[in-house]
Amino acid sequence: MDQIKIGKFIAGCRKEKGLTQAVLAEKLGITDRAVSKWETGRNMPDVSLIPELCGLLDISVNELLAGEHIAMEDYREIAEQTLLEMRNKEESANRELLRAESVICALTVIATVVMIAAGMCLAPYNKVLGILLCAGASPLAVGALIYAVSLEHEAGYYECPRCGKRYVPSKRAVIWSIHAGTTRLLRCPYCRNKDFHKKVLTKEK
Ligand SMILES: [Zn+2]
Repeated sequence: MDQIKIGKFIAGCRKEKGLTQAVLAEKLGITDRAVSKWETGRNMPDVSLIPELCGLLDISVNELLAGEHIAMEDYREIAEQTLLEMRNKEESANRELLRAESVICALTVIATVVMIAAGMCLAPYNKVLGILLCAGASPLAVGALIYAVSLEHEAGYYECPRCGKRYVPSKRAVIWSIHAGTTRLLRCPYCRNKDFHKKVLTKEK
């Protein structure tokens, strides 16, 4: 997806409709700064605004995402290309989230061990500091791990090995489930099978 091209296209369509940035922004209930950011390619419109924006500019969602008017015969090909690009974007964003989760988990383990070790070494000299370090280690670890799991929850889907459906479980289910890496013991909402479900990055196969 070429944000600069999309931005220029939005600006062009807006002018064709005789709308100023301010008027378009007002119709969408956003600031004209936001419109200006789209048009200069610094930002993409929020997904929730896209249908209304397309309606106001009299273009299709596909045209918006392609950044050009599409002739009927090219329609299918460009739609597929755009979907593929969006899917790749989603996949790499989710991969980043999972990477962040691994880093946070590793750092948390190290920080916890260091805090407890330091607390025990310091305790004979400074009891209060020693106890604080040891006692602070576990809430820190729990907090960081819950944060890490919530990143995992946001990234992608889980796949049921029995029925093959991909779904997002509740955050609670993810936090409390047994896991091996990012494979978790979960109950499938479709076939109710409880099994180890593997993490996948996109909804479609
Ligand atoms: Zn299933």
